[in-house]
Amino acid sequence: MTKRITVAIDGPAGAGKSTLARRIAAKMGYLYVDTGAMYRAVALWALRTGVSLTDMHRLEQLANEARIEFAPGDSGGVLLNGEDVSEAIRAPEVSQAASEVSRIPAVRRALVSKQREIGERASVVMEGRDIGSVVFPDATVKIFLDAQPEVRADRRATEAALPREVVAEQIRERDRRDQTRAHSPLVQAPDAVYVDTTGLSIEQVEAALLKIIRDRTSNGKERTE
Ligand code: C5P
Repeated sequence: MTKRITVAIDGPAGAGKSTLARRIAAKMGYLYVDTGAMYRAVALWALRTGVSLTDMHRLEQLANEARIEFAPGDSGGVLLNGEDVSEAIRAPEVSQAASEVSRIPAVRRALVSKQREIGERASVVMEGRDIGSVVFPDATVKIFLDAQPEVRADRRATEAALPREVVAEQIRERDRRDQTRAHSPLVQAPDAVYVDTTGLSIEQVEAALLKIIRDRTSNGKERTE
């Protein structure tokens, strides 16, 4: 009997989810799935084709029709309809548009169904906003990664080479939208382990998460199939 493990990592922008999820997936030999990249890919497609971010019907179509693939390994590469869009989806206007399209229930339904398909085929480290609460409520391990807002803004400002205040404002706006939307808002699942990464190095957080995962997967909580 093979054991399929689902590690769900949720939390706000800049908490360190992508970096940590990618490293942990590599260490454990699991597939890394960045669900934010899926919302970004749909947003990018809408921006490129001139679909309005308020046109729910067309956005639902794009979300259903999008072929979103993750490059194997831990490169974080993302393909949209066969094209490598790994860099294009990181543009600031795509971040804002992704946050808007992710409010639409039909878009969420389409992408959640794709996420479940991926997680049902393989052991995964899947990161996003609603993985432990909605996508995989029975995940083997649930982690809620957080950090103080100023620290998250600093991390994103360094990544995006933008002034700290500009990024801080963007993050406040995205946090507000993610936490207050009617469908699948960002919440900590009751059984998620809360980890505050403020003041910790990547190596320290990685060690803490690996310990949580190994404790949970060696005490009989594994999902079986
Ligand atoms: O994590 P990332 O910043 O790449 O996510 C882009 C946007 O997609 C977020 O602002 C969030 O609104 C949305 N998102 C979501 N649910 C997820 C992952 C991302 O609503 N599971």
